[in-house]
Amino acid sequence: MAATRYSRQRELIYEIVCASREHPTAEMVYAALKPSYPSLSLGTVYRNLHLLADEGKLVRMPFPVERFDGELHRHPHFCCEGCGCVQDVELPYDDALDEAAAEQLGCGGVRHSVVFYGLCGDCARDRAEP
Ligand SMILES: [Zn+2]
Ligand SMILES: [Zn+2]
Repeated sequence: MAATRYSRQRELIYEIVCASREHPTAEMVYAALKPSYPSLSLGTVYRNLHLLADEGKLVRMPFPVERFDGELHRHPHFCCEGCGCVQDVELPYDDALDEAAAEQLGCGGVRHSVVFYGLCGDCARDRAEP
């Protein structure tokens, strides 16, 4: 039955994103599933990732290339300017910043995202080598 197949695919896609620490792009999810599911199309992966994000199960991250995060609690990210990898940064979320912005703007539901930029360990090492 088509509906069952589609929801099974969505489940697999969700599991891949949650199991990954890489904040995968649609292409990365597609590449991970393709060997086991040769009939899968990139379009299907895109559609399901967006459905999962619309359902609030994944976070859509507007980096130069769109990525997805299975970790729903708000946390800062690091984006490498060398290889483009995205990593979690273990720092507390600053609620006071949201409150200050909400007060200044007179807006509700204010939240923020923090992205650090620089070179990841691998890229920093590569640059240091002669
Ligand atoms: Zn890097
Ligand atoms: Zn993350």
